[in-house]
Parts: sequence; C-alpha cells; structure tokens
Amino acid sequence: MVRIEELKSRVREAGGPELLERLEWLDAERVRPPVEAPFVRAPERGTRPDFDVVLAGGGLSLLFAPVLADLGLKVGVFERGRAAVVHREWNISGSELGPLTASGLFRPQEVESLIVARYEHGVCRWHGGREYPVRGALDHALDAGRLLAEVRRRAEHRGVSFHEQHTLTGLAEGPEAVRLHFERGEGGRAEVTARLVLDARGVSSPYATADLLCPTVGGVLSGLREGTAPDELNPRVGDILVTTEGVEEGRQHIWEGFPGRPGEATVYLFYYAPAREVRGEHALLRLYGRFFERLGRYKRGEPRLLRPTFGYIPGWSRLVPPPRAPGRRVVLVGDAAARHSPLTYCGFGAMVRSFLPGARAIAAALQDGGVPTGPVVHDTPLHAVTGLLAFFMALPSREPTRRGEVNELLDTAFAALHDMGNETYAALIKDQMRGTDFVRFLHLIARRRPRVYRDVLTVAGFGPRALVRWLEGLSRAVLQLPASDT
Ligand SMILES: Cc1cc2nc3c(=O)[nH]c(=O)nc-3n(C[C@H](O)[C@H](O)[C@H](O)COP(=O)(O)OP(=O)(O)OC[C@H]3O[C@@H](n4cnc5c(N)ncnc54)[C@H](O)[C@@H]3O)c2cc1C
Repeated sequence: MVRIEELKSRVREAGGPELLERLEWLDAERVRPPVEAPFVRAPERGTRPDFDVVLAGGGLSLLFAPVLADLGLKVGVFERGRAAVVHREWNISGSELGPLTASGLFRPQEVESLIVARYEHGVCRWHGGREYPVRGALDHALDAGRLLAEVRRRAEHRGVSFHEQHTLTGLAEGPEAVRLHFERGEGGRAEVTARLVLDARGVSSPYATADLLCPTVGGVLSGLREGTAPDELNPRVGDILVTTEGVEEGRQHIWEGFPGRPGEATVYLFYYAPAREVRGEHALLRLYGRFFERLGRYKRGEPRLLRPTFGYIPGWSRLVPPPRAPGRRVVLVGDAAARHSPLTYCGFGAMVRSFLPGARAIAAALQDGGVPTGPVVHDTPLHAVTGLLAFFMALPSREPTRRGEVNELLDTAFAALHDMGNETYAALIKDQMRGTDFVRFLHLIARRRPRVYRDVLTVAGFGPRALVRWLEGLSRAVLQLPASDT
C-alpha cells in the first residue's frame, strides 16, 4: 500500500497545495463531522438584511448567483477557500446543456467552447459480463474549471459580491432574516444577515444528511495507451460504469473514464457506501492509494496525473427521510440537498436542471415578501425507485463466496436495459425513464434472475419501512406524480 505521505505529495505535485488542502478538509470532516456553532443570535423583526440572498459555498451552485442577481436580488457568495475553484471534471448528456443558454448566461458558441470532448457512445461493463453500449447519454466532457470561472465573471459583472476565506460556522433564523457567522482565518470573524440563505456547502454542510456517500478519486491523466481494447483508451468512447473485480474489503469499486483533450482522459475510481460507514482518517487518500495501485487493471499505459479530482458525493436513497434545512429561510441546494440521482450521482446534470427554475422560484417568493414554499431543487420520481439499486450496491455481502454478486446482478440488469432499446437505456442514465418502463425493466431482470427479489430484499438495513417507502415511490413514478419530498 502506498504511504499516506507519498499520496499527499502526488496530489500536491499534480494539483498544488490548494487542492491538497481541500482534500484534507474533506477527509478531516469524515473524522469530525461539521456541526453548526450554537449561540448565534437570531435577527429581530425589523432587521435590515445585508443581502437578499447569501450563497454559502462557491462551488458548482455558483450557477444560482448571476441568475438571482439578474432577477434584481442583492447576492453575496461566501466561500471558505477560493470561489469557483474545482477539483472535478464533468460529463453530461449534450441535450442537458440547454439551461446554460436559456438562462442568458452563455451564448451557444460559448457553451461550445466549454466542451472539451464529445464521444460517440458510452459503455457499462461489469466484471465477468458483457459490454453494454449506450448513445446520447453522458457523452460530453466539459471544462469544469473554465465553466465556473466564467460563471463567476458573469456573477461579478451583475453585482454579486464575493467573500473568500469565509467559513460559515453557524446561523440562526429570525422572523424576517437569517444571521450568519463566519470564521476568516487567524482568528478573524464576520457576521452578516440575509433574507434567504442557500446552503451550497456540498457534503460539508451539517445538513447534508443523505444516507449514502460516494467517495471518488482520480483525475485528468495523460499517457494511457490509446486503442479499442477494453483496457485501452478509446477517444471516441466513454466508460460510464466499469468494474474490474468483485467485492473487496466490503466494497464494490467502480471505474469511470472519459476522454478529454487530445491525449488526455479523466478517470475516477469510486464506491457507494452508507454514509455512516465512511469514517476514519484519510478515506479519500486511501482510495487514491488503491487508484494508483489498480489503475493498470483498468487501463494500460504510462499514466501521469495532470490534475487531481476528488470528493465525497452524497446520495439520498429515498428509503429514509431526506436532508432537511433547519428553517424556512435556509434552502439546501446541490450536494447538500442530494436530490440528484442516487444511482448515477450526476450532481452536475441535476444542478443544470435546477438553477434556472430554482432561481426564478426564489426571486418570485422574495419579491412577494415571502420565502419559497415549493421545491427549489429539481427531483424526479424515478429516483425513489433507483435508490434501491444504489442501496444494494452500497451494502454488498462480505461473504467471500458472494463477492461476484453485485457484478452478476448489474450485468443482468444492464443486459435487460440494453435489450429495451437505446432510448430507454439512455433515459435511465439521464434520469428520464418513465415509471412504466422501470416496472418493465424490473420484470425483465426478475425473469432472467428470479432470485433478484431475495438478493435485494435481504440487504442489511432494508426493513419494512424502507419497503413501504420504495413501493410508494414506485407508484408515484408509475403514475407520474411529482417526487415526494418527505
Ligand atoms: C470527483 C467528482 C467528479 C464528479 N463528476 C461529475 C460528473 O461527471 N457529472 C455530474 O453530473 N456530476 C459529477 N460530480 C458531482 C458534482 O461535482 C457535484 O454534484 C457538484 O459539485 C455539487 O455542487 P455543490 O455546489 O453542491 O458543491 P461543491 O461543488 O462541492 O461546492 C461546495 C463548496 O462549498 C465550500 N464550503 C464547504 N464548507 C463551507 C463552509 N463552512 N463555509 C463556506 N464554504 C464552504 C467548499 O469549499 C466548496 O467550494 C462529481 C463529483 C466529484 C466529487
């Protein structure tokens, strides 16, 4: 096993001290989970708030800021590090990029310039099984760093103020506003008030209580051998989900890899787990150890890490109650809310769907002197049913004789999906599958693998209450009712 100090220096060398610091913040929070500081004084009635909206966290949710400012609101972004700095690369389905232009933030040719690669199709491949290609899903790679830098530029141009090195440590809600406390390093403190707070602290929010977590590490690599074999990089194909072995150490590790600029590719290694089980020192760094050790099993070549990308992506299975904000004037967005797919964890895609209608709903409510009462973050009823699959993948059997079970089930599931046709297959990955198709999908899996119900229903922690929630979710998906938010 590569030593922790060596792993740190590899991340530092490729990403610089700022990215290593971010990784260490994230890992430290798995040991000491963030809590809201007590004793913040709630603002009294009649307080004149400093801002209409405070965005706490300047990551991907920054997309909200320029749109809210455009709608006439005074917006402040408060970020504990530097705002608009990413340690991610994003892929998305081309058809999902529309809101970037519909919001007026980008012209079509500007969006085009953010796309670093397009690929002909993606594949899913489970160890010991076949390969299942899909077209029209997650087939565009975007320059994440430039996207956020451009969003920030547009936000500043519209009057949004940025407050960096401001760590939100506590908040309290009064009848008309929220007071927020920040630490500013070297003992400095700041306090502001806002009519509404968007908690965009991602997994670092104390309210990010989603039950699943997807630790993810990897980065932009050069030097992978190009070719068309499964263990070579094909610049025309993206690997959406690929496994190279069964369950090890109680986890089913999964690879994702997609081409980027010529000669480069983004590669991730991740696993799904119950959030409460991802504890202990250096969880991300230890996963990096596995990444470097096992990369050769996934792709051949002489890989060089050009830019590290990593994080913990929360996932809400919908089998337990959702993450909830502490009050009416605090709204969870992005990963803190975890209303994205618990199967694909495509938080970028989900954010692109949410920021425009969400910002409009916020502005309309504040202009009427109220707070948003409906959903600000997009969710779809399908997530209530796919959450069960994620739950299954997060809790694989630790019995050595059953280490191939996740791969076998998923190979059966993707064979069924593939047989249902490209449109349905792509729809599942894009969170657009109809409930009736999902029922057909389940039926096809059960026909090929009758023990599937036993496999899934005997997963530890899947009790009668979760079953009732899941059945309710399935009915909503079939009847095309809005997603339940309880
Ligand atoms: C490695 C990786 C790859 C991914 N790839 C994809 C992909 O290809 N496609 C896709 O759809 N999704 C992808 N995602 C998911 C996507 O990146 C997230 O869903 C998205 O970034 C969530 O945005 P956010 O604004 O909620 O949180 P983040 O982008 O994580 O931003 C949170 C911000 O809050 C700041 N912060 C934290 N605590 C505080 C505090 N107390 N005070 C002030 N600021 C604070 C942090 O410094 C950070 O800047 C990926 C995620 C990871 C980790």
